[in-house]
Amino acid sequence: MVFSMPLEEYKRKRKFDQTPEPPAKVEAKAGHRFVVQKHDATRLHYDFRLEMEGVLKSWAVPKGPSLDPADKRLAMQVEDHPVSYFDFEGIIPEDNYGAGTVMVWDVGTWQPLSPVPVQGKYVAGTEAEAVAMLAKGDLKFRLDGKKLKGDFALVKMKGRRPGSKGTEWLLIKKHDDHEVEGYDIDAFDESVLSKRSLAEIAGDEGSAEWRSRPSGRGKLKAAWLADAVAKLDKKNLAKKPIAKKKLRN
Ligand code: MN
Repeated sequence: MVFSMPLEEYKRKRKFDQTPEPPAKVEAKAGHRFVVQKHDATRLHYDFRLEMEGVLKSWAVPKGPSLDPADKRLAMQVEDHPVSYFDFEGIIPEDNYGAGTVMVWDVGTWQPLSPVPVQGKYVAGTEAEAVAMLAKGDLKFRLDGKKLKGDFALVKMKGRRPGSKGTEWLLIKKHDDHEVEGYDIDAFDESVLSKRSLAEIAGDEGSAEWRSRPSGRGKLKAAWLADAVAKLDKKNLAKKPIAKKKLRN
C-alpha cells in the first residue's frame, strides 16, 4: 500500500519551518468528523477528508463533492493528513507543498454504513466495516455536515487505464432525501468557519502584508512568517470553541 506509513508522505512533502500548517501527529482516539477544504492551489480543487484510525483519510476532488447522484466526482486519494489539520483555513506560502489559499468549506460528522442495504436502505455500520470497505475500495458512509448531508460512497476505480496511478476513486451521492438535482457547488463559496469567500481569505491582512514584502530575503520572510503563524494560532484558538460547539449539532 502506498499510504501504509501514517503521515510519512505528509511529513516528507512539508517544510514546517515555512508553513503555518500543523505538524504531523497520529491521534490516539478515533473520532468521526469530516471536513471539506476548498483549496486554490496550482489548480482549484476540494480536499475531502474523513477522520479515521487517528488520521484524516484524504482525497482531492477537482470538481468538488455534489449532492446530485448523477454526478460521479473523480477523487484522487492523497496522503493521510494529521487530525490537527482538520480546521486549517488560511494561506500556505509559496514554494511550499500545496501553496495557495485554503477554506474550510464544510465540516460535520460521518458514520460508516453497513455494506449491505436492509430493504433497500442503508443502515449504520461499524468502524471495522468502514476499515474493511476502505481497504476493499468501496466505502459507504453517511454525512451530517452544514452543506453535505446524506449517504455517499467512495468507490475505487480499477486501475487499468493507461497512465492510471491507482489512486483514482469516485465520490458518489446515493439516492435519499438529501439529494439535489443539478447541484451547483460554485453557488456555495463560503467558509463554514468564517463565512468568508475564497477571495476574501486570500486577500486578508496577513496575505496582503506578505505579498508587499520583497521576496528572497530570508530574515524578512521569517519575520513575517512568525507574525503570520502567531496570528493564525490566535485565530484558531479563538475559533475552536465555536467550531466544536457547531459539530455537536
Ligand atoms: Mn489540496
